[in-house]
Amino acid sequence: MSDQDYFDEGALVGVLTTQPLDRVLDYKAPEGGCWLGAFVEVPLGPRKVIGVVWGPGRGDWDINKVRSVMRVLDTAPMRSEMRSFLERAAAYTLTPMPAMLRLATRAPGLGDPPSMRKIYRRGEGTPDRVTAARTRVLEFMSEYGDLSFTLKELAELSGVGPSVIKGLVKQAVLREEDAPRDVPFPPMDPTLPSKELTDDQAAGVAALTATAKSRDYATTLLRGVTGSGKTEVYLEAVAACLAQGRQALVLLPEIALTAEFLKRVEVRFGARPAEWHSGATMSERRRIWRMVGTGGAQLVIGARSALFLPYRDLGLIVVDEEHDTAYKQEEGVLYNARDMAVLRASICGAQVVLASATPSLESWVNAEAGKYKRIDLTSRFGPSVMPEMRSIDMRAEDLPGSRWISPTLQSEVKARVQKGEQALLFLNRRGYAPVTLCRACGHQVGCAQCDARMVEHRFLKRLMCHQCGETTPMPEACPSCDAVNKLAPVGPGVERLSEEAEALFPDARIAVLSSDLFGSARALKEQIVEIAEGAADVIIGTQLVAKGHNFPKLTLVGVIDADLGLQGSDLRAAERTFQLMRQVAGRAGRAEAAGTALLQTFQPEHPVIRATLAGDEEGFWRAEAAEREAAGVPPFGRMAGIILSGPDVGQVFDVANHLARNDQPLRQIGAQVYGPAPAPIARIRGRHRVRLLVKAGKGVALQKAVARWVAQVRLKGELRLAVDIDPQSFF
Ligand code: ADP
Ligand code: ZN
Repeated sequence: MSDQDYFDEGALVGVLTTQPLDRVLDYKAPEGGCWLGAFVEVPLGPRKVIGVVWGPGRGDWDINKVRSVMRVLDTAPMRSEMRSFLERAAAYTLTPMPAMLRLATRAPGLGDPPSMRKIYRRGEGTPDRVTAARTRVLEFMSEYGDLSFTLKELAELSGVGPSVIKGLVKQAVLREEDAPRDVPFPPMDPTLPSKELTDDQAAGVAALTATAKSRDYATTLLRGVTGSGKTEVYLEAVAACLAQGRQALVLLPEIALTAEFLKRVEVRFGARPAEWHSGATMSERRRIWRMVGTGGAQLVIGARSALFLPYRDLGLIVVDEEHDTAYKQEEGVLYNARDMAVLRASICGAQVVLASATPSLESWVNAEAGKYKRIDLTSRFGPSVMPEMRSIDMRAEDLPGSRWISPTLQSEVKARVQKGEQALLFLNRRGYAPVTLCRACGHQVGCAQCDARMVEHRFLKRLMCHQCGETTPMPEACPSCDAVNKLAPVGPGVERLSEEAEALFPDARIAVLSSDLFGSARALKEQIVEIAEGAADVIIGTQLVAKGHNFPKLTLVGVIDADLGLQGSDLRAAERTFQLMRQVAGRAGRAEAAGTALLQTFQPEHPVIRATLAGDEEGFWRAEAAEREAAGVPPFGRMAGIILSGPDVGQVFDVANHLARNDQPLRQIGAQVYGPAPAPIARIRGRHRVRLLVKAGKGVALQKAVARWVAQVRLKGELRLAVDIDPQSFF
């Protein structure tokens, strides 16, 4: 059906709602009729719910009982392109449609009438009395009098209290008016000058611009070391897209959505783009949602869920740091925003740019196979060069068991601090110590709700479970044997590392960057900016710092435990470690001073460490691809994870075993089932978790088979089943 389909009053329409029902419901089109795709309010039992007209009604209900649509909402109807995107994403991720629709309507108050707010502009009157505060307002208004402001803006910008403004309204010096709250975003100007590009940047821009003009779907892997100008290049692709009159979306891992980045975008296009992220207020979200639908927002910079906004004409999706695990939603609808971006673009004739210094193996293989185009930026922009990388062989270092900064690393850090440069000590472990051990009985303090260890957070004076977030005060006695004062921290966390650094570098300013030390994402970003500007000499950080921020004074990166991540059964462990090492190393020497990266390791001859040090990326990928191909695992085969969970472990295993035995639907496509086994984290929030893993060949209809297979069991009571297609992590 096309967007032109219209249902006359009284015609039967099928409405998809966000309620967990397994079908669209029949209603009668309201007075005046409605378009296919219209957002509507319908009665459901005693309630009113929001839905979308999804097609003609099925007509399988008693026509006398079919109720009428109550009203059509005042927003643009959902386009057919968006409807098929949601349907195909649902089929891919095996997600029920109502959950998909919830994802696509995550803005509050969509059903409300467009709300109004008060705005203020210059009026005709003159004040009865002139005060300093009033003069400030008048001077401000004589400069900007043709613009209008909210009370808060005007008070802040002219430096007076709101009562001053209200007083001026009374005398008609200012006019108070009602204006709609959801106003268009300021227009972007793609014709502002770009930077002067290097040759390989210019070649990349030319290729992306040509694709933008063709208005065809294409995906391009944009590869280049940190600092090579990937952002410059894709911003020109954004310009080309905007010049076509189409909308553009730049997806970033949430933490990379920094003020610094937004400023760059603003400089390039002369106005601030729409920002979609978890920190956005409810009214901002609603404004973006609506404006994207009408074309009043041309450019959206957002975290992964921005992919589900109702764009009017989306022409480009950039996925920056495309390898980042933050793109995989691990709760609710399990989707990978990178893959869904490709799906959406292929439906609406848009181009996708996947930017990364260290692409995922999936994208690398797709580019090798010719499914994606590929652009390589081979050198860093300007004088900065890739850091020199060396390993520190920890077997040869003289270091007591409770310390982690080797003498070699220590003297390198000292040398930087003396020169007024910055050093980063990277450790991907939050908190003080990963294990709290009783020296009397050997007990390791664990979470009461999960099978995970409690991590000491000395800063918060609590133990915390990194799985469920449960915290408890630091106990004085061992919870197992009651011995007092016997609990000891084992292993390093960033907080503990900072104590060691304070002792080793007493004259240095030391800053710890870890997500849990900040009340909000905003506070964290502010701190990052201050540190980047030089507020610290030694930075201690978790993987947060690996994500795309500029530290111009940083010339040394010390990776405390390069072996972390090499262990473990995760099929992507090697890839993750390689990417992380490369990115962290990429922080060093971004500006003029050349950087050094030192990797502390007990296995300097491990292939991942060696490839990292050699900077041999193609070599690493080729080896890793060969290994996965031989094992028939993604991206050379397909996988699905099934997690069954419930409060009763026996019941959970019963159902899992039943599924494992009745695997005919899977055998029909040549797929195998592994398990059931306790999930690596066998209990979360008191729920026991059992995992089955399905492995299949590349070209098979995996989702259909899995859907038929899991439909064999009926989930009673508190039992839950989650399907994770293309699982990224295995917890
Ligand atoms: P990446 O996204 O690959 O990490 P960026 O686009 O952020 O790289 O570029 C790194 C730095 O170099 C930025 O400060 C950017 O403004 C600057 N830069 C890159 N290319 C150019 C250019 N052609 N002219 C001027 N500055 C550039
Ligand atoms: Zn827990």
